[in-house]
Amino acid sequence: MKDGFTAARDALHFINGAYTKGTSGRTFDNISPATGQKIGVVHEGLKPEIDAAVEAARAALHGPWGYMSLTQRSELLYAVADGINARFDDFLEAEILDTGKPKGLASHVDIPRGAANFKTFADLVKNVPTESFMLDTPDGFGALNYGVRKPKGVIAVISPWNLPLLLMTWKVGPALASGNTVVVKPSEETPLTTTLLGEVMNDVGVPPGVFNVVHGFGPDSAGAFLTAHPGVDAITFTGETRTGEIIMQSAAKGLRQVSMECGGKNPGIVFADCDMEKAIEGTMRSVFANCGQVCLGTERIYVERPIFDQFVARLKEGAEFMKLGASDDPETAMGPLISKEHQQKVLSYYKLAVEEGATVVTGGGVPDMPDDLAGGAWVQPTILTGLPEDARCVKEEIFGPVCHITPFDTEDEAIAMANDTEYGLAAALWTEDLTRAHRVARRLDVGIVWVNSWFLRDLRTAFGGSNQSGIGREGGVHGLEFYTELSNVCIKL
Ligand code: NAD
Repeated sequence: MKDGFTAARDALHFINGAYTKGTSGRTFDNISPATGQKIGVVHEGLKPEIDAAVEAARAALHGPWGYMSLTQRSELLYAVADGINARFDDFLEAEILDTGKPKGLASHVDIPRGAANFKTFADLVKNVPTESFMLDTPDGFGALNYGVRKPKGVIAVISPWNLPLLLMTWKVGPALASGNTVVVKPSEETPLTTTLLGEVMNDVGVPPGVFNVVHGFGPDSAGAFLTAHPGVDAITFTGETRTGEIIMQSAAKGLRQVSMECGGKNPGIVFADCDMEKAIEGTMRSVFANCGQVCLGTERIYVERPIFDQFVARLKEGAEFMKLGASDDPETAMGPLISKEHQQKVLSYYKLAVEEGATVVTGGGVPDMPDDLAGGAWVQPTILTGLPEDARCVKEEIFGPVCHITPFDTEDEAIAMANDTEYGLAAALWTEDLTRAHRVARRLDVGIVWVNSWFLRDLRTAFGGSNQSGIGREGGVHGLEFYTELSNVCIKL
């Protein structure tokens, strides 16, 4: 194992190509959510660390990075992707230490997608066209207009803990491919893979200052100092809606652009004409994958009445069959929540559901775990029915392995209930009627609709939410709206 992993284990900052403890002298413990044991310490960055990182990022824009051809830049990003894959086991270990998630999940989703995010955007920027218009002029010679995309500058990346490497690189990939430099503030819960990425950047020759990492919390810590920093040109954020509101207030000073990927309370609609096997398998994943800590996950399910009882019984059977356990046990289907604090939040919703009158079909508490895992943040996979649509458990994002299932009688009724939310991130439809699928999909007020699938991602497509689920779209060419500044050049002929 290389030195970088030691640096990652201690969660040092990575500023201007070097690992550093910074000058704050403040640290906090990194706790394993699977065991409750201390994994290591995280160095907290404050204003001086953010100042140094932003300064390094600004300087790097004017160094070799700023003069690099598109091809050279893309080659470097391919090398970053290869570098992640070359140290796959280190990234996997780091992600599992931080999150406790099953090894099968992290090795199939988190780490490969972390690498793919660099390749996809390295390809994209080489192939994306810009617009061009000929303008008639009175002298008959005309004028040629063409667009030029330039990097926006220093991008602040604020990322969450649920898919740490995947969601951070989903922003860093397009930001760097577009020629920007970044300062990343990963979640305080999951500092390791972001730290480790610094070593890959150095190994493949990404110039110092292009990729910087400062650890810490949000308020009065690295997050708030970074988003308020006048040297930051734009802020891309993934996390809770209410955090997004605070960050937008910081961004207002200096009219800095924001990209926001926030919370959801995503519906699944299951029609009686669905393929039941596919619908159960897909819904199992969309509710319970990553212990329900996926922004795109389904927390509200609407099932057409003739198949309601059968669907609930099948989902219950699936939930009760899942093994909760250690990440390296191949039979483990579900890991812990991210922290004891989040466990308390999810358990408070389990309790509230009962107070609101729910029927607890399965789960609703803390599972018995073996001694070595008993200190972890475990909760039972939980299925609820019987709540009115205005119950808090049906309205609010819980972000745990829990769903509420409601029967419906008509397509219009299902659409109305699905849309009755302040969020608008994703929806899943289960039907074998293609015409119905198209008809319903376009009536749902969300950024992403899956039909007979879930979490099937083509990275070239638009990704983002409507209403309180976010602002803007990332993914494919859509991300370039945020990561680049489009200038028009007009030439009189
Ligand atoms: P969070 O909002 O608590 O934290 C996200 C990040 O913001 C962390 O790095 C945190 O330190 C930082 N932060 C917190 N307060 C801040 C402040 N005042 N200033 C600057 N930074 C601050 O979110 P979380 O709990 O880490 O993640 C879970 C949430 O993220 C859920 O709501 C989930 O739906 C959402 N999410 C959305 C998407 C999406 O693509 N739409 C993807 C994943 C997660």
